[in-house]
Amino acid sequence: MIYYFCKTKIMKMNLSRQELIWLLSTGGEDAEAIFRWAQAHRKIYAGEKTYLRGLIEYSNICRKNCLYCGIRKDNTNPTHYTLSETEVLEAARYAHDKQFGSIVLQGGENRSEGHISTIERLIREIKSISGGELGITLSFGEQSEATYQRWFIAGAHRYLLRIESSCESLYNTIHPNDSLHAYQNRIDALRDLRNTGYQVGTGVMIGLPGQTIENLADDLLFMRDSDIDMCGMGPYLEHVQTPLYDRRHELLSKEKRFFMTLKMIGLLRLLMPDINIAATTAMQSIDPRGREKALEAGANVVMPNLTPENKKEAYKLYENKPVTEWIDLPEEMIGFGEWGDSKHFKKR
Ligand code: SAH
Ligand code: SF4
Repeated sequence: MIYYFCKTKIMKMNLSRQELIWLLSTGGEDAEAIFRWAQAHRKIYAGEKTYLRGLIEYSNICRKNCLYCGIRKDNTNPTHYTLSETEVLEAARYAHDKQFGSIVLQGGENRSEGHISTIERLIREIKSISGGELGITLSFGEQSEATYQRWFIAGAHRYLLRIESSCESLYNTIHPNDSLHAYQNRIDALRDLRNTGYQVGTGVMIGLPGQTIENLADDLLFMRDSDIDMCGMGPYLEHVQTPLYDRRHELLSKEKRFFMTLKMIGLLRLLMPDINIAATTAMQSIDPRGREKALEAGANVVMPNLTPENKKEAYKLYENKPVTEWIDLPEEMIGFGEWGDSKHFKKR
């Protein structure tokens, strides 16, 4: 069945909502066929290489209270930290020395002028110490358009902001019901990022309580219709110090969430063959070879963690977060020293 389906439909990459729902429900050989086709598409349209982004988790201080997240404002358990400029520059220097090509600076959402100007300065310094060679991706949540512009002018050129779920009613069940957490803010922020000139990445969590296969098919169509350049998506992982933990009895097993994420990656690769798709750390927390399996399902980016050892423990978005820095891949498959920009963005 899937073979015929692949030949006639997947190859055309024009999968309908109904077809996505059907494919997301498959398993066994049918799912293997999705992964095989996705791999082939990845190689042709996004290239053979896997690109590295050294992940620097800058601060766990956040003004938001997303119901799923371990560093939400009201969770006072983790010790608050913000990396010093020296710590960030050391991590960036390490990434440059190891030829990672790019780094990601990520952290809680903070809109204070102090935070904005520190990040702006750090971007310039990272560019300077690497002779302009390190590409910089940011992930600091929703900011004003003026802030996005300041950071872009300073030298950052990619930004990650997950939609978390494209279904507004589901989004509202995993966020507090107030203006700070409004779905429309996120849509507006994604538009502002695009207008500023960034390569824009988004993504969703997979296996959220109350999430249906239909929601996931709509997430794939949302990403296609938003014409994104990059995607980072991973399984939802419950965290005991968060309100959403109360709904843990509704969850699929971790293995099922993992498998569903692999299928989401494979199908997104078929829908958007030339974008960058990350093999996320959350995959690795369920399966030690999770990121490698995500690469085999169509992903082409990994983000080794470069956060200083003594701070990693405090940046627990979810439980059992692994902190390994390396990936089990032959060296010739890695795009050392390359930015590895989204080919999709370049074509636009
Ligand atoms: N504050 C920024 C960046 C840090 S959070 C932002 O929100 O964009 C980065 C991502 O971690 C979020 O987008 C979310 O998808 C993911 N995350 C948070 N809690 C999680 C959980 N319990 N399980 C899986 N992913 C989670
Ligand atoms: Fe803050 Fe991001 Fe966590 Fe939401 S997901 S609480 S914005 S760090």
